Amino acid sequence: MKEILEKLRVKGVTLTPQRIAIVEFLKKITAHPTVDDIHKAIRRKYPTMSMATVYSTLELLKELGEIQELSIRKRGKACFDSNPKLHHHFLCRKCGKITDVEVDCPIIKKGWVDECKVEEAQAYLYGVCSECLKKEKSKKDKS
Ligand SMILES: [Zn+2]
Ligand SMILES: [Zn+2]
Repeated sequence: MKEILEKLRVKGVTLTPQRIAIVEFLKKITAHPTVDDIHKAIRRKYPTMSMATVYSTLELLKELGEIQELSIRKRGKACFDSNPKLHHHFLCRKCGKITDVEVDCPIIKKGWVDECKVEEAQAYLYGVCSECLKKEKSKKDKS
């Protein structure tokens, strides 16, 4: 967290309380929020927070490699992941929840493929999550 702020400072970014709040928010949550989610959450504390600030801060963090942008939601909004490590994602088509997927993938583990350095690797998996499956099952059992 401090490290990220330091990196931003080195880049010459002015660390306004709003910017710091965005970094704090992203580092705290494990979900995958959209720009709207982030904007709404920060606006509770900083009502003057603009969408432009959210976008520009996210761009900076992306450049630093601290977060990644996911386009797992087809035709939907991009969402952001504060876990910069290479990993995959699962989207539940029932409840819309996105979860991290740890797959034992040799390319991701090595970070290299045929002498090329892998910087981004994301598989988007779609289906029904365990919670929704449970719900479906209990519905069926009742009827
Ligand atoms: Zn679900
Ligand atoms: Zn993730």
